[in-house]
Amino acid sequence: MHGRILIVDDTATNRIVYKVKLSDAFYEPLLASDGESGLRLAREETPDLVLLDLALPDIDGTEVLRRLKADPMTRSIPVIALSASRSGDERCRALAAGADDVISKPFIDSVLMARMRNLLRMREDTRFVTRAWGQEAPALLGMAEAAQPFEPAGTVALVASRPELALIWKHQLLRTLRDRLVVMTRDQVLALPPLRDATTPDIFVVEADLDAPGAGLRLISELGSHAGTRHSAVCIVTAAEDDETTVMAFDLGADDVLARAVCDRELAPRLRILLRRKRQADRIRATVEDGLRMAMIDPLTGVYNRRYAMPRLAGIAAQAASEASDFAVMVVDLDRFKSVNDRFGHAAGDAVLIEVARRLSENLRISDMLARIGGEEFLVALPQTNLADAERVAERLRQVVGDDPVLLPTGERLRVTVSIGVALGHSGAEAAEDVSGMVDRADRALLASKTAGRNLVTFSRTAA
Ligand code: GH3
Ligand code: MG
Ligand code: MG
Repeated sequence: MHGRILIVDDTATNRIVYKVKLSDAFYEPLLASDGESGLRLAREETPDLVLLDLALPDIDGTEVLRRLKADPMTRSIPVIALSASRSGDERCRALAAGADDVISKPFIDSVLMARMRNLLRMREDTRFVTRAWGQEAPALLGMAEAAQPFEPAGTVALVASRPELALIWKHQLLRTLRDRLVVMTRDQVLALPPLRDATTPDIFVVEADLDAPGAGLRLISELGSHAGTRHSAVCIVTAAEDDETTVMAFDLGADDVLARAVCDRELAPRLRILLRRKRQADRIRATVEDGLRMAMIDPLTGVYNRRYAMPRLAGIAAQAASEASDFAVMVVDLDRFKSVNDRFGHAAGDAVLIEVARRLSENLRISDMLARIGGEEFLVALPQTNLADAERVAERLRQVVGDDPVLLPTGERLRVTVSIGVALGHSGAEAAEDVSGMVDRADRALLASKTAGRNLVTFSRTAA
């Protein structure tokens, strides 16, 4: 994985060592020898990650961290703080100031590298949004905002080999976190519902060795492959400072790893960081999903829009040609719909459109496609459907709209009807027909239904 790494360290030999090691690992190193130049480079170059020595000649490392996190330009860059002192205070101050991790010097290369890979991977996951939206992305995603003092409470699951240990964590965390804390066994974790709900933990704190050595690590991949917990964060607690387990946990996808001895002081601030990061990832995902939805769904009725419908119809036609099956296309248009708006108002018209879309979709198969392709005009595509099936379906759709009056927002009931035009796509030579040609045929059949009196189904005769 490539990435531009800013190293802020006042010791020249350290900078050289880092530079060589990072270049060897195909990273691009940027070097700064004090806090001021570090902050300047971070702003100018927006690196993918910062390695920050906490002992700097000009500005205290924790202050550098605070400034990085206060600046919208640099706020989302992950920072690994490097601490020469073994004092817990300095580590905690750095975590509180926004460090994603604090690694004590002399640190083991493999641990630092695994941690870097983990943070860069997370950053890469949010990158495509930035690429798509450019400068707007941070604001759109709330990334430019400082951590909110009143974020909603999250849920943290505590999974340890012995319930007593999980309870000790719980009591420690109760003092500083206002999130929901639940003690769970491994089996309870595995029995969580298959889909996310309001009770799904945002973070799992998992002991590396559960019932068997390394069983906690296996839980990382189990949580990751489960739809309900795939987006939850996992924090692994190792029995002792154990580099091999730490590296393995990060590479398996753990979001944080810490030794049991430091849980007392560090678990709470680390969980806060994980929760903040998870909320940001959730926001990004929701924004992307909304964007995808908007691109293909009609907001009024919730059925597909025209932009989605035409290529999808082409796909259905290609599938039919490849399996030599028939399929049908229908255009369904509300009769005298203008008069609904004229007599009852636009809101009533909208309510009718919503209800008609609902009735149509309830009377189609999962594999059929329903789209709103015009103001009061719907397109239905029916794969694997021959003439007899198409006649039955079209007649049913006509009836489910026309038979029962629609309830208007005013409480009145109004009978509405639809006219339908159908075109069949056959396997064989004419399967090559352009789908827009088929829709044109269905449109002409629809027109025939209109001129023949409406509330009728007409089949395109030119279908060979
Ligand atoms: P016909 O039986 O010949 O189809 O007559 P019609 O009145 O349904 O057809 P026309 O094309 O003359 O009018 C369609 C009307 O649909 C006009 C427009 O006001 C209404 N319409 C289109 N989109 C919407 C919408 O989103 N909401 C509402 N309420 N009305 C809409
Ligand atoms: Mg109409
Ligand atoms: Mg129309």
